[in-house]
Amino acid sequence: MKVTGPAVLWERTSADKAVRSFEDAYAVVSGQLSALAEDNPIFEAHLEMLQDPMVTDTVQANMAAGMQPLKALDSAGNAIASMFAGIDDEYLAARVDDVRDIFRRLRDAMTGNSSPQAEFPEGGILVAEELLPSDTSKIDFSKVRGILCAKGSTTSHVCIIARSKGVPIRVGADISGIREGDPVEVEDPLVGGQEEVVSKLRAAGRKVYVNAGSISDIEAGIAAGADGVGLFRTEFLFIGRDSEPGAEEQESIYSQALLSCGGKPLTLRTLDVGGDKRIPYIEIPAEENPFLGLRGVRLTLARPELFRTQLKAVLAAARSVRALRPEWFADQSPLRLMLPMVCLPKEIRQVRAILEDIDPGYRGLVSLGIMIETPAAVLGAEALAAECDFFSIGTNDLTQYVMAADRGNPGVAYLYDSYNPAVQSAVRAAVRAAHSAGIPAGICGELASDPLATEMLVSSGLDSFSLSKL
Ligand code: PEP
Ligand code: MG
Repeated sequence: MKVTGPAVLWERTSADKAVRSFEDAYAVVSGQLSALAEDNPIFEAHLEMLQDPMVTDTVQANMAAGMQPLKALDSAGNAIASMFAGIDDEYLAARVDDVRDIFRRLRDAMTGNSSPQAEFPEGGILVAEELLPSDTSKIDFSKVRGILCAKGSTTSHVCIIARSKGVPIRVGADISGIREGDPVEVEDPLVGGQEEVVSKLRAAGRKVYVNAGSISDIEAGIAAGADGVGLFRTEFLFIGRDSEPGAEEQESIYSQALLSCGGKPLTLRTLDVGGDKRIPYIEIPAEENPFLGLRGVRLTLARPELFRTQLKAVLAAARSVRALRPEWFADQSPLRLMLPMVCLPKEIRQVRAILEDIDPGYRGLVSLGIMIETPAAVLGAEALAAECDFFSIGTNDLTQYVMAADRGNPGVAYLYDSYNPAVQSAVRAAVRAAHSAGIPAGICGELASDPLATEMLVSSGLDSFSLSKL
């Protein structure tokens, strides 16, 4: 899909003249954050941080030392951000972005600049250097017509979310000469070309699933005719809050998700964080190579309480929905539990042991599958297939690990190519291993939605395709 519209710069070059005092700007920002906090806990945390006396004290001390008000603000913001960055505590260090956000708001309020997040004009094209997962939760996608980003990869968090909302996005764009209001164009083959993909897949007799990050994504996908959900990224329930959702909250969401599928398969992926997806309240010791570190099932197995809460909630949701709609479970449960970042058969056995311990009847409630995302999973696919009920190929990560190219690093973007014969040969090898073991293999990476890849992927023998949006 190609869209055009006026550029709205995410990071505006702020005017250098204050039109409001710091105290008045503080009151304005306080009001903005109080209103935003009603719907989103991120802003509640921002409000608390704003109210920390350190903010006002540092700015006022700078002014008392003779600095101009804007300079005093910038200098206080930098000092507080560096202080957080230097703290030897993952949770606090991760709050640097929050500090920057608050000081940007204060600066906008002092200079009279309107913050793009707060007043995004309907139909604009968002232009940014980089959009991090924490930025993504602030974007009102209903107003954004398209997104241009200088950094990031086609499988970065913001791309996944934008496409799931039907918003075209281009990363790796040259945004250097673009000014506020300039007419800009975004072309994204992964948005809007889905009818063609769906009809080719249907003609080839493949199941067409949809990827989802929320109940509304599930509802929209099923309403658009999906045969089920091929990937429910449960980490979105954990992002943008101060503590993990409890067992009851999770059970209610998973039950709603199952009910929204109306008996069609729901592939629920267990919490997939670590790597570039950090959650402040899930502490991970500093790592040299986070993408090779504690992420996906490695992390959840290392945090039994966190994992057990999620698995308990999944099984309880399956039980309660089965009591309501036993016919959905008659042949096979519609709930497919899926593990991310699996490398070893032992990891699957460990998860089975936890499931068995929570509920010895778990096999009637869920089937258990894995994502194929690592070279180890491809090369060891035969042994993995013997332990589980299905494979789903995650080409977003599989590409990064086969090509040894970080999915978010523009410097190696030329290597991050899901069409590369090495990646495609990995896809075919995984499908062959699944079929020899008598289990199905699907794909749920972004490549599944690419109209240019459909024929190649169909000929690999993949049984199902889970698209970013239908
Ligand atoms: C993948 O890696 O292909 C995938 C679907 O998972 P995510 O993009 O959430 O890492
Ligand atoms: Mg992945």
